Amino acid sequence: MEKQNIDWGSLGFGYIKTDKRYVSNFKDGKWDDGVLTEDATVCINECAGVLQYAQTCFEGLKAYTTEDGHIVVFRPDLNADRMIDSAKRLEMPVFPKDRFIDAVEKVVLANESFVPPYGSGATLYLRPYMFGTNPVIGVKPADEYQFRILATPVGPYFKGGVKPLTLKVSDFDRAAPHGTGHIKGGLNYAMSLHAIVTAHNEGYDENMYLDAATRTKIEETGGANFIFVTKDGKVVTPKSNSILPSITRRSLMYVAKEYLGLDAQEREIELAELSDMAECGLCGTAAVISPVGKVVDHGKEICFPSGMTEMGPTIKKLYDTLTGIQMGRIPAPEGWIKVIK
Ligand SMILES: *Cc1c(COP(=O)(O)O)cnc(C)c1O
Repeated sequence: MEKQNIDWGSLGFGYIKTDKRYVSNFKDGKWDDGVLTEDATVCINECAGVLQYAQTCFEGLKAYTTEDGHIVVFRPDLNADRMIDSAKRLEMPVFPKDRFIDAVEKVVLANESFVPPYGSGATLYLRPYMFGTNPVIGVKPADEYQFRILATPVGPYFKGGVKPLTLKVSDFDRAAPHGTGHIKGGLNYAMSLHAIVTAHNEGYDENMYLDAATRTKIEETGGANFIFVTKDGKVVTPKSNSILPSITRRSLMYVAKEYLGLDAQEREIELAELSDMAECGLCGTAAVISPVGKVVDHGKEICFPSGMTEMGPTIKKLYDTLTGIQMGRIPAPEGWIKVIK
């Protein structure tokens, strides 16, 4: 397979049109068979449910080339499960898990020339998403939906080296108790845009959101979960019903326990505990882990001992182990790596 003539290492995180995308439509209570198409344009009615009441959810995962030359995806079954949870919460029909995984496979194979080579640090990012398509003017769920998966190659996250992030404790809330923080709905991102633009304008990389009810506990950022290492060497991550259950975070907690033999637990974490932490990282599909160097809480700076120039030692071990598992350099737990080719 001839690869695209792309400078993989200098790619950013942006949209590049690839050859094929997958489309399936839901009508009269059932999904059609689905097709791969070259048509990158979505054509829907002006009054479509997604346009009026934001009835849409999405997923994100990566396909990449392992050390031994296979094209694989990482735990797509968990993306399928999470999209089912998102769909149910938004009163959308479920796209069946086996069909989700099959569609992922089809899109990757149809865009094989866009799967970056091993060692480039780049990956083929896959974006499954679903939205209400038929006209809806009264507030109610749509009757018709479209499920799509698009693929776009993205560059290495740590281009030009690791730079620990500076976060701001946000004055905005990301998710309400009993709200929709635990699902991957476009709605959570629409309302986060003002908060992130504000943070960027003030010179911060990201927001640290607190629990909306008491504003004393740490939740997550706009698009990544937190992982902390305490000064006595424990790995901890916030427990809350309004956090999006990151697949990367769940995988890292497993790696901490089962591969590194560390004490790893999910528990409520107070903002006041930040000064007891030795290391902090943000986890998500895009970066796996990006280190945080500093959190600013209304003028008060909390600087982690790991500093502003490199990953802390434990976060680094977690990063190296999980990326080693993903790239096939370290044996993976059963079912984590789906080989496509
Ligand atoms: C997608 C997402 C994450 C990261 O999840 P992964 O499955 O690890 O990619 C974290 N937080 C939010 C709000 C997200 O939308």
